[in-house]
Amino acid sequence: MTISSILQGKGKDIVTLTPEATLGDAVKSLAQHRIGAIVVVDRRMAVEGIVSERDVVRLINERGTAVLATPVSEVMTRAVVTCTPDEIIPAIMERMTRGRFRHVPVVDGDRLVGIISIGDVVKHRVEEMERESAALRDYIMTA
Ligand code: AMP
Repeated sequence: MTISSILQGKGKDIVTLTPEATLGDAVKSLAQHRIGAIVVVDRRMAVEGIVSERDVVRLINERGTAVLATPVSEVMTRAVVTCTPDEIIPAIMERMTRGRFRHVPVVDGDRLVGIISIGDVVKHRVEEMERESAALRDYIMTA
């Protein structure tokens, strides 16, 4: 199963912010869309950074709620690990585990085309395992 086929099932909407948006805007968007991370992009949809709910919790703990007025460009993670649509789930699982993050933006060339969360990865692994065990059951029954 490729990342591209997972994205097709998810629909094409990607929640993004521009670098000048504030951390408060990011919080609003995270809550509104019920998601865990937002990708920060430039006008051409090139990835500039990522802000996750973990960043928000850490920053409020360190600097208090005044940090919500800060532009996301000043607080986002800039070294974003990405993947491409032709990659497969195990590669992305490995990247998430190694980097200890739960979101991987998908880029085609240098344009953002989607995001894969750990929830998407788990969903697809569970479906795959269910398919495998159904196939094994069928095989045993018909053997
Ligand atoms: P998460 O587990 O995705 O909520 O993110 C945990 C931390 O990793 C936060 O500081 C994020 O900004 C950062 N992060 C999330 N996704 C990525 C990614 N794909 N590449 C680099 N850092 C990330």
